Amino acid sequence: MKSKLPKKEIQIKIKEFFEDIKNKTPKQVKKIKKLAMSKNISLKEKRKLFCKKCFDSYKNPKIRIKNKIKSVTCKNCGYVSRWKLK
Ligand SMILES: [Zn+2]
Repeated sequence: MKSKLPKKEIQIKIKEFFEDIKNKTPKQVKKIKKLAMSKNISLKEKRKLFCKKCFDSYKNPKIRIKNKIKSVTCKNCGYVSRWKLK
């Protein structure tokens, strides 16, 4: 996706997008991720707000914490994301 928006504006756009992540479709999430990647913008903690496999935003995910590893199961595709807790 080609975009001529300056990086700063895209960062604002991404921030606003994630504030309303629960109302976004997987297609929109995929698009914003692509946009961020094209500008080398790291999503950091925001990556934990959606499934990296099907790009569905986590609405009511199953969360388990074991041995300082947080597992989040996507209700849409069943993919389990694991995050190390600090
Ligand atoms: Zn998923």
